[in-house]
Amino acid sequence: MEKGSTDPSALVLEIMRMSTEDGPGLRTTMFLKGCSLSCRWCQNPESISAKPEVRWIGNRCLGCRECLSACPVSALSCEEGITVRRNLCTGCGSCAEECPASALEVWGRRMTVEEAFKELMKDRAYFGTDGGVTLSGGEATLQAPFVKALFTRLAKEGVHTALDTCGACSTEQLETSCEQADLILYDLKESDEDLHRRYTGGSLKLVVDHFKTVVSLVRSSRLHRQVWPDQREKRLWVRTPVIPGMTARRDNIQGIARIILEHGEGLVDRWELCAFNNLCRDKYRRLGKAWELEEADLLPAEEMDALVQAAVEAGADADLVHWSGMTRNIKE
Ligand code: SF4
Ligand code: SF4
Repeated sequence: MEKGSTDPSALVLEIMRMSTEDGPGLRTTMFLKGCSLSCRWCQNPESISAKPEVRWIGNRCLGCRECLSACPVSALSCEEGITVRRNLCTGCGSCAEECPASALEVWGRRMTVEEAFKELMKDRAYFGTDGGVTLSGGEATLQAPFVKALFTRLAKEGVHTALDTCGACSTEQLETSCEQADLILYDLKESDEDLHRRYTGGSLKLVVDHFKTVVSLVRSSRLHRQVWPDQREKRLWVRTPVIPGMTARRDNIQGIARIILEHGEGLVDRWELCAFNNLCRDKYRRLGKAWELEEADLLPAEEMDALVQAAVEAGADADLVHWSGMTRNIKE
């Protein structure tokens, strides 16, 4: 929250309009910057740092070097193109302001709840009865006061709200963020503790503990609804990224099925297996980061079908498990 202000703010990375992948109906997804995990397959690497980040767009650059003198901390150098020394850069944006060719952009813009609300409400016309707003990341719960206040504001206008979370936050952050969410999209990525740590950098135990927390919030909301029918009822979807050579394993999907059955049976409305793609590889390049999955292939549709089948064999309800995303033709 800004000093002296009662309107919480958050570092917003991007607003994606007309999304069909982050909950029901047509939605606007707002991505917040800052994440507690560092998944090796991350599709939004620019969302991990909780600081604004500068990117250089080489094909726009005139080579004028105006940006070098604009930088107050000498974080830029020019050899073969502009390089940002990220350990020095504070994300102040002076270089982008001075650049005559819009060849520098800053990822991450601070917005208050009121500013975000006004921006999101521009899309109201296409939300209809199913769609709405999803807050994603990064990890949106790390900015819990903003999430709660924004969802409260949207709910008052009758807009459906969804929270995308990996559960790697404090219990207080999770509960605060879920308070006004109609739908929680909960990531269960890996069912083996050691592999979870190796692939995401975080603890599976915390993620499972927080899955139980979310299930209990969903259960309470449904009980309340039975007594007060005009109360809003929470829904819960689980999402699993299916990554070749990592989480795309039969034993992993069956392990996640057991977590869902043990702790969330009857309360999970949908489980989505999300097929990997490497379309975000340019983001890694622009950040100057190597990415081990840059050349990884799409998975065949048959493999996704087999993983759905594995989930069903482990006891998951066949009507609840789906897969989504791009796949490759196995006959290629
Ligand atoms: S100010 Fe812009 S156009 Fe000039 S060198 Fe820097 S990035 Fe390139
Ligand atoms: S954002 Fe600010 S600190 Fe970072 S490179 Fe640009 S001028 Fe320098």
